[in-house]
Amino acid sequence: MKVSEHILGSFVFSTITYLATKSLLAAAACFLSGILIDIDHIIDFGRLYGFNLYGLKKLVYASQEDEKAKSKHNFKKIYLFLHSIELACLLWITALWLANIYLIAAVIGYTGHLILDCIGNREDLKFYLFFYRARNKFSAKKLFKRWRRKKMMDED
Ligand SMILES: [Zn+2]
Repeated sequence: MKVSEHILGSFVFSTITYLATKSLLAAAACFLSGILIDIDHIIDFGRLYGFNLYGLKKLVYASQEDEKAKSKHNFKKIYLFLHSIELACLLWITALWLANIYLIAAVIGYTGHLILDCIGNREDLKFYLFFYRARNKFSAKKLFKRWRRKKMMDED
């Protein structure tokens, strides 16, 4: 999803969090976590284009592209360490166990981001399972639907 869509989504989640908690700090934690989860893209873009200004520029442009335009990046590996349903579950358990309103708010933003990615990026839900990606050796060819679609079209 585009970063602008995540900003809008995070604004909605943080507004709901504010209405439920009356805490600006909790709303801010929700808003920021819903956006900052995407910093893990730095690793994948850095590996592809270099950990330099050029790689950063590619990442910034890609954050404004739709999914079709993003398919031009030829990732060999896709890690996305923070895009993980398992991590979301661990964070929920921790936040609820600690009963910390700010941590719970941050996990709401994080989970909201994952849900929006699951809906908007049109990948299989299992793509967002870290262990599924690890089992496939983080191979973009094995993980991305668009690679499979292209392969099917090539075989026809
Ligand atoms: Zn994301």
